[in-house]
Amino acid sequence: MSNRIPVGVLGATGMVGQNFIRLLSSHPWFEVAYVAASPTSAGKTYAQAVAGRWQMATPIPEAVAKLVVEDAGNVEAAKGRCALVFSAVDLDKKAIAALELAYAAAGFAVVSNNSAHRGTPDVPMIIPEVNPEHLDVIAAQRKARGWTTGCLAVKSNCSIQSYMTPVWALMKAGYRPKRMILTTLQAVSGAGYPGVPSLDMVDNIVPYIGGEEEKSEVEPLKVFGRVENGVIVPDSTITISAHCNRVPVVDGHTACVSLEFDGAKPALEEIVPIWRAFSAVPQELGLPMAPKQPIIYSDEANRPQPRKDRDLDKAMAVVVGRLRTCNVFDIRFVGLHHNTVRGASGGAILTAELMKARGLIG
Ligand code: NAP
Repeated sequence: MSNRIPVGVLGATGMVGQNFIRLLSSHPWFEVAYVAASPTSAGKTYAQAVAGRWQMATPIPEAVAKLVVEDAGNVEAAKGRCALVFSAVDLDKKAIAALELAYAAAGFAVVSNNSAHRGTPDVPMIIPEVNPEHLDVIAAQRKARGWTTGCLAVKSNCSIQSYMTPVWALMKAGYRPKRMILTTLQAVSGAGYPGVPSLDMVDNIVPYIGGEEEKSEVEPLKVFGRVENGVIVPDSTITISAHCNRVPVVDGHTACVSLEFDGAKPALEEIVPIWRAFSAVPQELGLPMAPKQPIIYSDEANRPQPRKDRDLDKAMAVVVGRLRTCNVFDIRFVGLHHNTVRGASGGAILTAELMKARGLIG
C-alpha cells in the first residue's frame, strides 16, 4: 500500500488536468485518487472520458485510466478519498469561485489554476520562488472562514511567469522596478482544448486574449505584495503595461520585457550573475518539482525559443536571454516558460509541495 498523500484533480480531463495526471503519476509525495470533470464526463472511466483527446506524449497512467470520473460539482464524492484537490476546471468564474470555496469548507486543501480567487485578499497567489511567505495568510484565512483542515491557495496567471522570477531576483539584489512594458507571445495550449480554431491560428497572430492584459498588469502587484492583518496588501509602486498576443506555438509563453528602475540601476554585467545565482525556498527545501536552477540565462543571441527551451529542468525553469540596454527604459530582455507545466500544473504541484512542507496539508 502506497503511503503517498491521496490527491484529486478537478477538471482532470482538460489540457491542464491532463498535465496534472501526467506529472503526478511519478510524484514521490502525491498520488491521484480522485478525478472529476463536467457532468458529461462523470460516470465514465478516465480513459473513456479522454478518448480521442489525450494530448500528452506519454500514455495515460494505468492507475488513473481506470478511475471513474466524478462530477466536480459533487463535493461529497471526494470526501474520504483525498486530502488535497488541484482545481483546473474551466467554467463560469462565479461557479468556480463557489466550487473552490465548497471544497475548502469541506476540509480539502485547494490549489487552483483559475483566476476566480486571485483577487480575494485572504487567498495567497503563490509563485513558490517569489512569495512563499504569503502562505502565512492561511492561518488567518482558516480562522476567519471557520475552516480547520481546508484552505485555498492559487497560482498566478501563466503569462506572467516568464518574467516574475527574473524581476524578483533583481528586487532581492536591492533594485526597485518602477515601470514595466511587456509584450507576450502566448502558446495555443494556453487556451485549453480544443482552444483557438486552427483557421485563426495557422499562418497568423491574434493580438488579443480576453482578460489577459488586465491580469498581467494587476497580478504581479499581489505577488510582490505583503501579508498584513490576515490579508495580502498588493505592491503599489510598480506600473505595468501589457500587450498579449496568441501565436502559433503549441507550448511555451514568451515575453519581451522593458524595465525601468526607481533609483539605483544594475549594470548589465551584474544582472546575468544575479539571475544565474538565484535560488529560493523550493530549492533550499529540495522540493520534488523545483527546478535546480530557477532562472537559466542563455548567452545565444537568438534564444530563448519555445521549441528548444521550454522543457529545460522538468519544464519548470524560466529561460531568459537577449539582455540589453533599453533606449526608453533601463533594460530589456526576453523570458520564456512552459505555460501548461511551470505556468499551470507544475507550478500548482510545487505550491502544494511547499504547503505540505509547511504542514498545511494532511
Ligand atoms: P480545458 O482544456 O478547456 O479543460 C476544462 C476542464 O474543465 C475539463 O476537464 C472540463 O471537463 C472541465 N469542465 C468544464 N465544464 C465543467 C463543469 N460544468 N463542471 C465541472 N468541470 C467542468 O481548459 P484548461 O486549459 O485545462 O484550463 C483549465 C483551467 O486552468 C482554466 O481555469 C484556465 O484558465 C486555467 N489555466 C490554463 C492554463 C493553460 O496553459 N492552459 C494555464 C494556467 C491556467 P470535461 O472534459 O468533462 O468537459
